[in-house]
Amino acid sequence: MEGTEALRRINGRGRSTPHLSLGFDSHLFSIDTSRSPNASLQPDAYLITHAHSDHHGKSAMLSPFAIASAETARALEIRYGRKYKGQTFDVGDNIQIKNVKVQTFPTGHTIGSSAFYWETELGVRVLITGDVKDYCALPRCDLLVMEANYGDPWDPSCCFEDDLASFFEATESGASFGAYVFGKAQRAVGLIRAMGYKGIIGMDTQSLALTRELMQNSAPLAEVGDANTNVVSPWNLGRIPGSNKFVLTGREDMPYPAIKLSDHLDFRGLMRMVEHTSPHEILIYHPEGKRASLLANYLRQCGMEANSLSEIRGFIL
Ligand SMILES: [Zn+2]
Repeated sequence: MEGTEALRRINGRGRSTPHLSLGFDSHLFSIDTSRSPNASLQPDAYLITHAHSDHHGKSAMLSPFAIASAETARALEIRYGRKYKGQTFDVGDNIQIKNVKVQTFPTGHTIGSSAFYWETELGVRVLITGDVKDYCALPRCDLLVMEANYGDPWDPSCCFEDDLASFFEATESGASFGAYVFGKAQRAVGLIRAMGYKGIIGMDTQSLALTRELMQNSAPLAEVGDANTNVVSPWNLGRIPGSNKFVLTGREDMPYPAIKLSDHLDFRGLMRMVEHTSPHEILIYHPEGKRASLLANYLRQCGMEANSLSEIRGFIL
C-alpha cells in the first residue's frame, strides 16, 4: 500500500521469525510480535491484540513500548506471572503513539481483544484485526491486516456454526466442559450464566483466576471439587467424576464428545469481514502454517490484492 511497508525479521541464522512490522511515515509498529533483539531496529510500538500465546504478548509485554488493552495486559500478567511494562487502554478508546492517533475496536475474540486502526500521513487507513469473532464494530479501511485461523476455503471444517443448542442441552443436564483456559473458558461461563444457571461453576486454578478478575457477573466460581458444573482445561477433564463431559472444540480427536463453540469467525465470517471493512489491499499475518497463504490465494482469485506474511519480501535484521 502506498507509503506503508510490511516487514519481517530474520534472525542470526538467516531464518524468518514470527514477526510483522509495518513501516509508514517515520514510524515502525510491530504487530503481535516478540521483542526485537537489542541490536535490531526497534519499533515505536508493539501492538498486542490479545493474550493468546501465538500472538507473542509473553515477550512483548516486557517492553515499555508494548500497547495492549488493560484486560489483555492483566491476562498476560496472570498467565505468565510477570509485570506488564507497557501502556494500556480501554477497548474503544483512542491512544496516541508518537504523533499517530490510533483507534481501538472490540473483536469479541477474548476478553480485552482489540483491533487497531490509524491513518497515515498519505491518508491510508490501516486496520489490524488480530483474531476476530465479531467484526461488526470494525471500520472500513484501505489496508486490512487480518487472521486466517479458519481461512482454508477447501477445508469443510473451516465452515461451521456454533452449536449453542447442544451446549445449552448439556448445561441443563449438569455436564462439565473442557475449554482452553483463556478465551473459551470465559465464553463458556458467560453462556452458562446467560442461560440463567446461578450455581457454582468449578474451574481449574488459572481459568479461575482469569475469569474472576476479568469477567463481571461470573460468580459464584470455585476451584474444581464440589461444583456440579465445571469448566476446566481439556487435559483436566479426566479428573472430574462421572461421564457427562464434553470438550468445547471443533476438533474430533478428543477422548470426549465435542461441542462446537469457537472464539473465531469461520471462513464465511472472514469473507463477510472483508466485505464489511472494504479494503483495497489485504495482508494475512496469522496463523503460522498454510491457511494464511491459502486465503490470500483465494482472495486473489476473487480479484482482490492480497498477500500472506510468507509472501512478504521486505526484511529487517
Ligand atoms: Zn487468539
